[in-house]
Amino acid sequence: MIIVMCGPGGVGKGTVVARLVADDSRLWLSRSWTTRTQRPGEPDDAYTYVTREQFEQHIAEDGFLEYAEFLGNLYGTPWPDAHDDRDVVLEIDVQGAAQVLERSPEALFILLEPPSAEVQAERLRGRGDPPEQAERRIAVAQGELAEGRRLGAICIVNDDLDRTVAHCAQLITDARHPGLG
Ligand code: 5GP
Repeated sequence: MIIVMCGPGGVGKGTVVARLVADDSRLWLSRSWTTRTQRPGEPDDAYTYVTREQFEQHIAEDGFLEYAEFLGNLYGTPWPDAHDDRDVVLEIDVQGAAQVLERSPEALFILLEPPSAEVQAERLRGRGDPPEQAERRIAVAQGELAEGRRLGAICIVNDDLDRTVAHCAQLITDARHPGLG
């Protein structure tokens, strides 16, 4: 099963995903490629950091399940390992989600929403992005939320981390056992 986790910057997506994967050994998190530079304090393994040239080469080789350009940088999901029988979690933007859903309409698609634009802006400004980057991310957030809803995502307002994680875990369980709910 493919689990697509979307949500605008500052919604706490990374934290929720890390908890889900830590709590469930049947999940694994795909590591994306990006041409973005590493943020201060960002772990070395958050992404595979590559040049635009390397990324474009990988596109030419059909190396990505999906990829998209977000605020001037490329992000892409390498093809998941076909021999891994765990469920893969993709933490991607809505453009990428649209591509995955086209190939795999049965994927579980969750959209995390911030409790308010103020909370989101505060989180974004606090996390080490250059201020103009943070402002651009805030500006695109509403459009991302609207597009995610249009694509049929299950929307969860992330106003309480434990509750959000529990809700996502329940959705994953339900998706693994269709018909029991
Ligand atoms: P950030 O720069 O904040 O790490 O990521 C910017 C946006 O790109 C976020 O919405 C993040 O989820 C998304 N993203 C990360 N990896 C991928 C990917 O492999 N594909 C796509 N389409 N988006 C990604």
